[in-house]
Amino acid sequence: MRSYEVIEYGEPLQATDRPTPAPQGSEVLLRTLATGVCHSDLHLWDGFYDIGGGKRLSLRDRGLVPPITLGHEIAGEVVACGPEAEGVKPGDRRVIFPWIGCGACATCRRGDEHLCNRPRALGIQRPGGFADHVVVPHPRYLLALDGLSPEQAAPYACSGLTAFAALRRVGEAVYRNQPVLVIGAGGLGLMAVALLRALGGHGAVVADIDPKKREAALAGGAIGAVDAGAADAVKQAQAAAKAPIGAAIDFVGAGATARLGIDAIARGGKYVIVGLFGGDITLSLPLLPIRAIAIEGSFVGSLAQFRELLDLVQAGKVPPVPQEQRPLAAAEAALRDLRAGRIVGRAVLKP
Ligand code: NAD
Ligand code: ZN
Repeated sequence: MRSYEVIEYGEPLQATDRPTPAPQGSEVLLRTLATGVCHSDLHLWDGFYDIGGGKRLSLRDRGLVPPITLGHEIAGEVVACGPEAEGVKPGDRRVIFPWIGCGACATCRRGDEHLCNRPRALGIQRPGGFADHVVVPHPRYLLALDGLSPEQAAPYACSGLTAFAALRRVGEAVYRNQPVLVIGAGGLGLMAVALLRALGGHGAVVADIDPKKREAALAGGAIGAVDAGAADAVKQAQAAAKAPIGAAIDFVGAGATARLGIDAIARGGKYVIVGLFGGDITLSLPLLPIRAIAIEGSFVGSLAQFRELLDLVQAGKVPPVPQEQRPLAAAEAALRDLRAGRIVGRAVLKP
């Protein structure tokens, strides 16, 4: 099999050929059909998070040591099954839930494998979809495509699921009746716009610094779009919303966007932070109780939420998010284009 691997953080990806593994136990080997390129792949490639105050959190210090095969939004075709892998057979096409935990701790047993302290996520701790084959530890992480193409399905494993889970945190009572501010209209933000439509949301006002992304958001059904870099972005967002903003979901997660989200929401509102661009902010404490606002972090989503999301997509309710298909061998160029802001929607790699 061929993989495009991070051999050293920040260095060019390296094409590596090795024998295709034979699945053991409950493992399933798939041939990769499509892999979405997420901005998290960029942070993982860099090897650190900007935790503010000029400091970095090093992934190597946290135990994530290259080589790493990136890519966690994967759809594939089953090639071989281990002796204990039941329910799938060669030729089956599936989308993979990559947010795999240890399976044994209390968090995993309550169904929150994506929050496990000993994660085995594909494309992070385990080899992911920047490769022509991928091994999945158990068939329960394989979900049927049911009419979706592999390239349509793959991005739901992260960008779709993460936006879906963040909307769950906002809550139906809020998003159905009040505008939601979506900060960052990249792969995740455009999914949130689409899901708000699918879920009968009141509507999304989008804030992005890039006019091309704002245009894509409006084309995707956002009720307004404002320049996040404008000095009066809060006022502009509130005016475009035409009603009190019930929640903000920040798919950038930088100091300036946190400020924007927290300042723009109405009393009793919620600011949900998803993006990992990084930085820090200062919070005036009395304003939290006086405004009765909530601040929540959100990390991908659960296997149960992924099933619910796919049901919604397969029912034809979710408008498609733009995507650009690229050859797998051009994985590094796709990462570079994403970093430069040249991708509208999602780049999807095809072997
Ligand atoms: P993307 O590159 O596709 O989109 C980012 C968007 O943010 C672009 O449209 C860009 O123009 C916009 N942007 C950049 N700086 C901005 C600013 N200061 N103000 C407003 N808009 C700005 O990225 P993506 O794949 O959508 O991922 C977004 C972030 O979410 C990344 O940091 C990624 O790592 C993170 N992420 C988090 C989770 C999670 O579970 N918490 C899951 C997936 C991705
Ligand atoms: Zn992702």
